[in-house]
Amino acid sequence: MANKDYYSVLGVDKNASDDEIKSAYRRLAKKYHPDLNKTPEAAEKFKDINEAYEVLGDPKKRANYDQFGSADGNPFGAGGGAGGGGFGDFFGGGGSFSDIFSDIFSAFGGGRSEGRVRERGQDIVTSISLSFEEACFGCEKTITIGKLEKCSACKGTGAKDAKEFSVCPECNGTGRVRYQQNTLFGTTIREAGCPKCNGSGRVIKEKCPSCNGKGTQRVNKTITVKFPAGIDDGQTLRMRGEGNAPAREGVNGDLNIKISVRPHKILVRKGSDLLMDLYLPFTTTILGGKVTIPTLEGDYTLTIPELTASGTVMRLKGKGVKVLNKDSHGDLLVTIKSEMPKSLDKATKAKLQEVATNLGDNSYTKYTNYLKKLKS
Ligand SMILES: [Zn+2]
Ligand SMILES: [Zn+2]
Repeated sequence: MANKDYYSVLGVDKNASDDEIKSAYRRLAKKYHPDLNKTPEAAEKFKDINEAYEVLGDPKKRANYDQFGSADGNPFGAGGGAGGGGFGDFFGGGGSFSDIFSDIFSAFGGGRSEGRVRERGQDIVTSISLSFEEACFGCEKTITIGKLEKCSACKGTGAKDAKEFSVCPECNGTGRVRYQQNTLFGTTIREAGCPKCNGSGRVIKEKCPSCNGKGTQRVNKTITVKFPAGIDDGQTLRMRGEGNAPAREGVNGDLNIKISVRPHKILVRKGSDLLMDLYLPFTTTILGGKVTIPTLEGDYTLTIPELTASGTVMRLKGKGVKVLNKDSHGDLLVTIKSEMPKSLDKATKAKLQEVATNLGDNSYTKYTNYLKKLKS
């Protein structure tokens, strides 16, 4: 999926504005949403559209995509729509994605928004610091969060006795209220969910003493969170439904865990690749040799070939970090840097002079080319 042209997926110009992209996405998502479009190719198309929007709808990812052809910095960026599973679901920031979805669902879900008002509890944001290895290999952590849960005494109803309700006097049990609005153009009648009973049509006779009728109680909850291998600094792990419970009817918010990763002593992570600069005595880069380097699986003996130029990058395939949600690994890239000794004594200098004379200028291709160009 890496080389797909997201602009053509959404049918927009490369210079399209954010609004143009958003409305193109809206239009296509409605057209191909699997609940609305039963043709066999719709699901795949819908996935592609979501993938494209996940990148182009986010200014930062879009800039990366324009520049590098990928939404880098977010190695799983492509997976969003297809992720599935409630547990380890990611997003790369910006809530626009779900906003649009709720728009679509409220536009098409019809009946659902009628009658009772279903609330969604608030999201909780927390943060965690992982070690370099924990992020690379994945880990499990227990964290304790303060959150609102359904009151256990009244099971979230807010009533002292769950059956003790009376008909809402405001809406007479319909859950809807009408009100008049006087405008310049005359009087209009509008209808809305009843604010007193929250659309439920009933009110509590006697409040639950445990939660004082709120239906929720504040608790400290300890949960075990599984951080997948390959998760990176700056990403957020979303745990659906682990946020605050809403007052009364509805669904829980999400728990969003912002991740920071502590650096490694030597290795630097860039997506799923690992990078390191390896300084070697200049004699080793000339004569070759064996050097120990760190990898995620422990020490590794790297063979430096004879005559390795400073700046040479040695790529160790598959010795990088596991790619998030994929069965592949990045590489380890070792940049060889030739280091000069701090000083030279007379005898060493004389020996090196002898080496220089023996080799002569003609042993060097680039240097002799340079001399030629200089003369001509
Ligand atoms: Zn209660
Ligand atoms: Zn009411």
